[in-house]
Amino acid sequence: MKRRGVLAVISGFSGAGKGTLVKKIMETYDSYALSISMTTRNPRAGEEDGVHYFFISREQFEQNIADGKMLEHAEYVGNYYGTPREYVERQLQAGRDVILEIEYMGAFQVKKMMPDALLLFVTPPSADELYRRLKGRGTETDDVIAGRMKRAIEEADIVNKYDYLLVNDDLDTCVRETHEIIQNTKYSVERNAEFIEEIKRELEVVNS
Ligand code: 5GP
Repeated sequence: MKRRGVLAVISGFSGAGKGTLVKKIMETYDSYALSISMTTRNPRAGEEDGVHYFFISREQFEQNIADGKMLEHAEYVGNYYGTPREYVERQLQAGRDVILEIEYMGAFQVKKMMPDALLLFVTPPSADELYRRLKGRGTETDDVIAGRMKRAIEEADIVNKYDYLLVNDDLDTCVRETHEIIQNTKYSVERNAEFIEEIKRELEVVNS
């Protein structure tokens, strides 16, 4: 029996290690497809178009929204970010599990449209550790770090709307746990309603 792919949405505090987590999941297991987002922000040093993001203009982005090409989108610190719909739908239909690494407003839009999407929130083990990681990157000014810590307070208020909480203390453990949660989801009764209906029909035929 072929089970439908899971749409797994991963959000978390800036500094939680989401990027590293997602990269490691992709390297470790081959059942996943990673959606590449579109954004209107400028590429950072080392970022490639079509690899890290599709970098497009505001006009193009707004046209995509108008054409219904975005599965979800949100504005984050003055720029648009969004998930192209077609890729995600194609991968899910082919039975692949799709990972979206997006912030919470987008995550809730996805859940509304696809109620069986799985929402995962990643956090470091403590606020101190979050601060240490942000500071340790060495790429952010004190102002930016303060802004991200503030945004973390806002995000802490919406964590309870997610399905699962992952504590990223040891990376390998977190990778394994994330994979297990996504895979276990496939066995839920809700996700297999169609199969149950089919068995019912077959039972009626066999018993007639
Ligand atoms: P950054 O500019 O640091 O790459 O990303 C900023 C924020 O945008 C992160 O929280 C990231 O998860 C989020 N983000 C990236 N892509 C998307 C997307 O397609 N949709 C939404 N809603 N958020 C995204």
